[in-house]
Amino acid sequence: MREQVFWGWGEPGAGPSLPAYADTFLGGELGLPGGIVEAPVALDAVRLRAPELPRVVRELLERAVGAEHVLDDAETRVLRCRGKSYLDLLAQRAGDCESAPDAVVRPADHDQVAAVLRACAEHAVAVVPFGGGTSVVGGLEAQREGFAGLVSLDLGRMDALESVDERSLTAVFAPGLRLPEAERALGAHGLRLAHVPQSFEWATVGGCVATRSAGQSSTGNGRIDENVVALRCATPAGELATLGSPGSAAGPALRELVVGSEGALGVITRVALRVRPVPGAERHEGWFARTFADGCEALRRLEQEGLAPDVARLSDETETRVALALAGPGGAARRAGAAATRALGYGEGCLVVLGWEARDERAIGARRRPAAGLLRKAGLLYVGKGPGEAWAATRFAGPHLRDDLLDRGALVETLETATSWSRLEALRDAVARALEGALGRALVGCHVSHLYPTGASLYFTVLAARDRDDPVGQWERAKRAAGDTIAAHGATITHHHALGRDHMPWLEAEHGRLGAELLRTLKERCDPAGVMNPGVLTP
Ligand SMILES: Cc1cc2nc3c(=O)[nH]c(=O)nc-3n(C[C@H](O)[C@H](O)[C@H](O)COP(=O)(O)OP(=O)(O)OC[C@H]3O[C@@H](n4cnc5c(N)ncnc54)[C@H](O)[C@@H]3O)c2cc1C
Repeated sequence: MREQVFWGWGEPGAGPSLPAYADTFLGGELGLPGGIVEAPVALDAVRLRAPELPRVVRELLERAVGAEHVLDDAETRVLRCRGKSYLDLLAQRAGDCESAPDAVVRPADHDQVAAVLRACAEHAVAVVPFGGGTSVVGGLEAQREGFAGLVSLDLGRMDALESVDERSLTAVFAPGLRLPEAERALGAHGLRLAHVPQSFEWATVGGCVATRSAGQSSTGNGRIDENVVALRCATPAGELATLGSPGSAAGPALRELVVGSEGALGVITRVALRVRPVPGAERHEGWFARTFADGCEALRRLEQEGLAPDVARLSDETETRVALALAGPGGAARRAGAAATRALGYGEGCLVVLGWEARDERAIGARRRPAAGLLRKAGLLYVGKGPGEAWAATRFAGPHLRDDLLDRGALVETLETATSWSRLEALRDAVARALEGALGRALVGCHVSHLYPTGASLYFTVLAARDRDDPVGQWERAKRAAGDTIAAHGATITHHHALGRDHMPWLEAEHGRLGAELLRTLKERCDPAGVMNPGVLTP
């Protein structure tokens, strides 16, 4: 079983480290002292209560999945305590795992999942489905109050690519298959899922479907929810399964009730997804826009004229400046940035990374030529493949570097939203101001990374010196300011991270009162005892 470190990202020692020159930059920008100021505690220093699962429940669980798959050793429980948000990591690093599940249960198939849910519902034990554990919105730390115990239902044993229909270009997955393993298994058929979130290394197929995840190439390949063909879900009230018809007029799509339900209705035990042929060629490249507004306008036109590439990312001025600084003295992006600055004659501009995937170079050329023409006319400057290739090579580095930033006493977190093209820049400005207002001295960068005909997503990265006396309050105030601003602008509280518990304060702003009541009614029907991931989807 592959496991991450309990306090951060990846296996021990995996991934890149923050380069020395980053300390100088962060010291100058944020006043961070440099070097390690706060390391995570060791596993044996973690605070963990003794498992409290009622004996009868434990016996039922052991009967359902086999005694060897009901685990309650400290490490397994600590690893299933919560996800990977900034606040999650602060708590894990401090060894605060009092909320860890009493047991981790590892079923092998749909029937075993159903038996676990029956046992837990009957005895009022809360159940949290656990895929890759990469939630950044408090999706995995369940409320224990009012329950006889808490079980983490780990889907790691359900990790098969069950079948492939090469003719229809669909594949059926068990939910616990991690994305790299899914791509490897599909690769044997010359196919791929093409779903690449930054959490790719650890996220599972089922977890992505349960959270309506978007990948880095979702502009071209679609979000995961757009690629769901059919699914099967075990709920405490029985099974919900949908057909795989390519289109249907049989009332509202019930599939959509399960996609994004975050384990609050039941457990996705099987999912059929659209798959694509592995591309024969890929090209990543960089452009510069003079301003964020210019970049947005160019991306809007690309998308609406049917010329958008598969990967389209526009960093604002702050994110571009930070990326160039952290690319280091010899970084390709920095060299391109310097050239662009000279050529543009003012400012540092905004970096645009575009990625193309196709059958071969010719096909890429045919798609790229008209897009490049449009970008030039829109005033953007082509700066070569360097920045695009640098982005592609380091696209999974961020979460590893975050651990180093946490060691150095930084506050480092992200949040995201989406809105229409007409409101995009105003929303970006307002959220950045809200975050800066709440945090004081901070670096708030933003990028656009998922294009739609009617609008786009905004993804904010926040860096500041951590308030050592009240780190949780510091971030909660900033998050509240950002969330309230997003809601006031009529934008979604989450474009792809999901609701979890962290976004519940904005549920009514998102769905309205009747919408929130409908979700509650749905929950009550599927999960009458209310044991499924309590606190998510319904308050
Ligand atoms: C560094 C980092 C980068 C990220 N980048 C992206 C990104 O680019 N795009 C993006 O969309 N997200 C991103 N995320 C968020 C996260 O990776 C996604 O939400 C992902 O979809 C979660 O998958 P998982 O398998 O880890 O699910 P988990 O974190 O284990 O679970 C997420 C939620 O779904 C529920 N759940 C899990 N499996 C099932 C199931 N089979 N049935 C029912 N419910 C289930 C859980 O109970 C939980 O509420 C990132 C997270 C991190 C830490």
